[in-house]
Amino acid sequence: MAEVIDVLSLYPKDMNIYGDSGNLLTVERRLSLYGFEPRIHYYNQGDAWPDHVDMILGGGGQDEGQRKIIRDLCKRAELLRGLAHQGVPMLMICGLYQLFGEYFQPIEGDRLPGICVLGVHTIGEKLRLIGNLVEHSEQFGAVVGYENHSGQTFLHEGTKPLGEVDSINMGNNGADRTEGAINNNVIGTYMHGSLLPKNPGIADFLISKACMFRYGTYAPHPSDKGKAELKRLDALAQHAKTVAMHRPR
Ligand code: GLN
Repeated sequence: MAEVIDVLSLYPKDMNIYGDSGNLLTVERRLSLYGFEPRIHYYNQGDAWPDHVDMILGGGGQDEGQRKIIRDLCKRAELLRGLAHQGVPMLMICGLYQLFGEYFQPIEGDRLPGICVLGVHTIGEKLRLIGNLVEHSEQFGAVVGYENHSGQTFLHEGTKPLGEVDSINMGNNGADRTEGAINNNVIGTYMHGSLLPKNPGIADFLISKACMFRYGTYAPHPSDKGKAELKRLDALAQHAKTVAMHRPR
């Protein structure tokens, strides 16, 4: 009997742009290849929360999408902070990255409160930060993706970035050369694309932390066929990453 891992997709109806749902597909596939049984839950505004959650994945969205989910997100704030504190791994992309911080002040309209899982805040600017992106992460090496956001995000004292970018006009705010934020097992990043197919090391980090949270240990047990498929996928990912790293901004 394969060990079950419950993965929650957060607001997929309104917060899922630039292919972010590919992150869920990657985690689901890799969990199966490692010999686990992924159980996927799609959570949208007003839905019941599942009995058990071992990992949470959230995507990006336009300002309008963020306004649609903010009331429900605030209702779930304490629950999400508690799960993050207990070590549940989470990956939040762009719009949800911003709302996992202290607040997001869009260019127009009221400030949106964040749920303070990540020590950051975000201010919308007319200049959008758009384009292919490579960052250098201590934990994950070179990370490649694509960004498109008006929000400029600033890290609070003691908050670590996911990585550093090579120049200005990209990353968190186009100025301090940081990108993303990481706190315990929660990662926020502007990397769309989707992120995980080209950066399987981050997918495996999330999977290992989900197994540790659920079972207190991480013991992947791929079949011979699974090992061969993982090898093939990782070679493909490496090729895609190499090509992406040399793409013009
Ligand atoms: N609406 C936010 C911004 O423009 C987030 C955009 C996104 O998720 N790509 O900064």
